[in-house]
Amino acid sequence: MSNKTATTLLPEERKKGFREIHRCYEPHQAYLEASRCLMCEDAPCTKGCPAGVDIKAFIRKIRFHNLRGAIREIREANVLAGICGKVCPQELLCQKECSNTEIDIPINIAALQRYVADVELRRSVSPSARQFAQRIKVAIIGSGPAGLAVAANLAQKGYEVTIFEAEAKPGGLLTYGIPPHRLPSSAVQKEIRYIKRIGVKIRCKTKIMNIDELFKKDFKAIFIGVGLPGARKIGLPGENLKGVYTALEFLKDVITNKGRTKQTKIGKRVVVIGGGDVAMDAASCALRLGAQRVDLVCLEGYDEMPSSPEERRICWEEGVEINTRVMPLKIIGSKGRVTGYKGIGIRWRKPGLFIPSNAIPIPGTEFSLKVDTVIEAIGQIPDTGNVKGFKGIETAGPGYIVAKKKTFKTSRPGVFAAGDIVNRGATAVQAVADGNAAAEAIDAYLKRKR
Ligand SMILES: Cc1cc2nc3c(=O)[nH]c(=O)nc-3n(C[C@H](O)[C@H](O)[C@H](O)COP(=O)(O)OP(=O)(O)OC[C@H]3O[C@@H](n4cnc5c(N)ncnc54)[C@H](O)[C@@H]3O)c2cc1C
Repeated sequence: MSNKTATTLLPEERKKGFREIHRCYEPHQAYLEASRCLMCEDAPCTKGCPAGVDIKAFIRKIRFHNLRGAIREIREANVLAGICGKVCPQELLCQKECSNTEIDIPINIAALQRYVADVELRRSVSPSARQFAQRIKVAIIGSGPAGLAVAANLAQKGYEVTIFEAEAKPGGLLTYGIPPHRLPSSAVQKEIRYIKRIGVKIRCKTKIMNIDELFKKDFKAIFIGVGLPGARKIGLPGENLKGVYTALEFLKDVITNKGRTKQTKIGKRVVVIGGGDVAMDAASCALRLGAQRVDLVCLEGYDEMPSSPEERRICWEEGVEINTRVMPLKIIGSKGRVTGYKGIGIRWRKPGLFIPSNAIPIPGTEFSLKVDTVIEAIGQIPDTGNVKGFKGIETAGPGYIVAKKKTFKTSRPGVFAAGDIVNRGATAVQAVADGNAAAEAIDAYLKRKR
């Protein structure tokens, strides 16, 4: 049994509903896992963590039963310790570096991080004391991991921080994107409550369309972490039929209404178009909502798909049919509703370049599937409304914000930006890491201004 399956529910159990698939370690399991760590001199695991968590140090503290010390160690670099412990693609980050060492099976670092964060949040440990109050106001637009990381860091330094969030609940894609079987909403809200205890104010249902208004209200610096709330569309014939959804609208509905609303009531046969993590999430949710067959169709081969190997493995184990190296041709419909999907096999013109313009259809490989729901999961884009509202800020493409590397300064003095809206879509831990760096830059800017 690998160290991964030791903490994961079996596929048959998983498909029954939205129970969290990764179980938390029991104390004895955590100590055993921590005791396997080789305590490498150069700690390659830390180099693999975008937020720079001192992994060796926190694992050592678990070994010595110092759980409070362990969580403090993690939170110093990553305020969303518990959330990232649940959703980080560790096999591509810290754990990948661990597997390059002398160790036989790499340490399940994410499970250890989940364990200490869960213990801490259950005990309602208070955040460490704030530094003296500075009475300087900073506005954060967006409460995803980037905004939360900036807010927590600045509040800890004594700034008066207010987050403005368009949605009814804070958390960004952690709340409205990642489905509950991977990240339960209660885990997100617990960690957000922790951040509020540091002193961060969060105003939900407040969409900021004009940053000049914030400067007029005496905010001395502004951070933009608005993510990518728009869904990219392929532009296929039949895309406007009833029963065709984007993954973002489908997942949001699953999270808020368990997919039972009229708009996204799932059919018996579902096709998900895309090969990334979002496609995997849509496919596994469709199964949980009772779909009898879920076909995932993507341009890439199995090992070329952008999804994390772990996500792919989970979907495959649960019975999602993964159809690789195929291109969609059209969505077929009757009386305004989707009834089928037509695709064709492809090969790559240039090897190693996995983009649609490099795909050549192979004549004679056309195929059709009978389906009643199609979910498109081919990427996210900026909200064009935001782009217009943020005057004086340089953007690129459809509205990605251009910000300096390391300082995350935008083209407008006093305005900083990070997370998906700048890096064009990465991971929660990358958003936290960039948010940490942006907070340092905002602090330096405000000190200089004074
Ligand atoms: C389905 C799905 C699954 C994913 N799974 C994983 C995973 O397993 N692991 C992982 O590490 N990453 C995952 N990601 C990616 C990760 O969620 C993102 O990289 C991360 O959330 C980006 O953080 P952010 O703060 O930049 O933006 P977001 O999380 O998108 O947050 C932006 C917030 O800004 C708000 N906002 C937008 N405009 C305004 C405005 N004008 N005024 C006020 N508020 C505004 C939005 O409502 C939103 O709450 C996944 C993404 C998706 C879609």
